[in-house]
Amino acid sequence: DQSQISNLIKSKPILITNPHGIHARPAAAISSVARKYDSEILIKKDEKAVNAKSIISLLSLAVNQNDSVYVYAVNEEIIKSLSYILIHLYDSSGEDQYQISPKHVDGNKYYGIAASFGIACGVLKKKGKLNFIIEENKNDILTEKKRFYEALNKVKKEIEYSLANLTENDQIYSGILEAHIQMLCDPALIDESLSIINNNKSAAFAIKQVITDNCNILAKTESTVLIERQDDFMDLLNRILIAMNTKQIQTVNHDLPTILLDNWLTPNDLVMIDKNVVGLISVAGGATSHAAIIARAKGIPLLVGVNPSILDIPDNIQVVLNSKAGYVNLAPEPHEIDEVNIYLDSLRYKHQIDSQNAKAKAYTKDGHQINCYINIANPEDSRDIMLNGVEGIGLFRTEFIFLNRKVPPTVEEQYKIYADIVSNAGNIPVIIRTLDAGGEKQIDYLKIAHEQNPVLGIRGVRFSLQRKDLLIDQLTAVAMVNKPNIKVMLPMISCIEEYREVKHIFEAIKKQNGVTVDIELGIMAEVPSVVLMSDIFAREVDFFSIGTNDLSQYILAIDRENLKLAAQIDYFHPSIIRGIDMVVKGAKQMSRPVSICGLMASDKLAIPLLIGLGIDQLSMSIDSIAENKAFIRNLNYEDCLDAAQKSLNLSTTFEIRQFLINKFIHAVG
Ligand code: PEP
Ligand code: MG
Repeated sequence: DQSQISNLIKSKPILITNPHGIHARPAAAISSVARKYDSEILIKKDEKAVNAKSIISLLSLAVNQNDSVYVYAVNEEIIKSLSYILIHLYDSSGEDQYQISPKHVDGNKYYGIAASFGIACGVLKKKGKLNFIIEENKNDILTEKKRFYEALNKVKKEIEYSLANLTENDQIYSGILEAHIQMLCDPALIDESLSIINNNKSAAFAIKQVITDNCNILAKTESTVLIERQDDFMDLLNRILIAMNTKQIQTVNHDLPTILLDNWLTPNDLVMIDKNVVGLISVAGGATSHAAIIARAKGIPLLVGVNPSILDIPDNIQVVLNSKAGYVNLAPEPHEIDEVNIYLDSLRYKHQIDSQNAKAKAYTKDGHQINCYINIANPEDSRDIMLNGVEGIGLFRTEFIFLNRKVPPTVEEQYKIYADIVSNAGNIPVIIRTLDAGGEKQIDYLKIAHEQNPVLGIRGVRFSLQRKDLLIDQLTAVAMVNKPNIKVMLPMISCIEEYREVKHIFEAIKKQNGVTVDIELGIMAEVPSVVLMSDIFAREVDFFSIGTNDLSQYILAIDRENLKLAAQIDYFHPSIIRGIDMVVKGAKQMSRPVSICGLMASDKLAIPLLIGLGIDQLSMSIDSIAENKAFIRNLNYEDCLDAAQKSLNLSTTFEIRQFLINKFIHAVG
């Protein structure tokens, strides 16, 4: 309506690059942002302008790829905010923030949560799933029926045997086993299989068909309980096929670019990952799990929390994984594959340019220097750091050297590893974090007692103080390196006595080992108690590093592995921003350095805010350092200070994100 429009400001033309234009999901994303504002917002294509708050109206515009649209609103801020969403519909930095519910399936697109950002194209392969070679046609109906009944009976007997032999502790599984027996005796399952066999099909083909159809029906229900029952059916199917002596295909050979899929990906899977794996998908797992941390360090996109029915999709189909937008597309159009390849080429080009400049220091335009460190998980990660412009190792997560083995590494083994890293690092600082076991980081052979709430239990330094033998070995190995650039950091510190106790032990070890240099002993600020008394800690500790992953978990009271709350555990929450501010202020009273080593330090949207809060050391994932240094060179320190002050006064995560997007959109690019 012309009269409405004439009172509003008009945006520049916005080209829609999303291959499917503004379809239902982008429309939902646009309207959800528009609804945050009370004033009128219109989107116009050609001569038609519609209300941006209505999904149906937006769809009626029929916006396709390469159409141009305009935003009309009362002020520039709203125009910028809506323009950002429209521009980013394709690579969809917008979409994942607007809370697509995990486990959502839309045609060929399976949605999940981005645990490592990126876009990849490759063939889908299941990691752990048994792959059977099933012959479809068999003429001997009687033999196949016999084979069918024998297999069912065999599996039933196996389950009954397990049921009869459950130990006291395992009684909780009895319900599941009984349910499996019920499923095996299900008359519909038997009748449908027999009628398929009657059509000259094999017993294996028949049971697979019936169970797969059944799972497809379950997948379409809205009930989580029913959806999860698919696991039981697939488990039974595997057992029945094995009982029928069905031939299996040997483990997958990743000779093509591969997107690896599994119910659960463990850190061990990822540490050993094949170089042809370009993307990862898991049904379970959280965005801050260790598997996710390794995926990010390796620069491999990872989507978690995907609907389990994806596990029934056959291997070897070509898919596009866009974890940034939160989905994998199982039937991409050829043009989509081309676009992804062009996009990946352009990324490689930008990366090449950023890498050429990586060695230069990162100064903001107005001359404020930010030290860019990296997080590492093993000595190999430190190999080429001198070439990549790394200015320090801000966090070595030593729990990784305790994985993939049956006993803890000895002092000598650890000494070699630490000395190797320090030698790769030359003179730049290397911060060794002592073992952070417990919580979601379980190491089987350490036999950490089962606890009701493990993340609130014996983890990090609490565990080290209970297993002083391990702590002493670790500190001895560090002391033996005897170099001034090696430093020690303690995880999960929550009270000063813990720090004092470790310090006391470390002093004795340094003396025993004739250490001639100063080795600093710092702490992670990741438990709220440290934030609240950072000024007191600052009197004793040598430095702080803020672990925003755990700090978010503990301040917001959200388990970092809880998929249902994954969208809410957001480090842009006002309380986290205020927490960081408090740590910096407390530390500055005694001039102690503060860095950030959680995920937040790698996030471009967060970096200006962190700089403005007084952080001048960021410890990020290896793959993002060159790009983030280039990004910092595009910032103004004054703008960062201003952004931090304004953010400290905002009341919601959404407002902070929107404010930062509007302010730094030019630099984020
Ligand atoms: C953190 O908690 O932010 C952190 C860096 O440590 P981790 O992710 O290893 O717990
Ligand atoms: Mg932590």
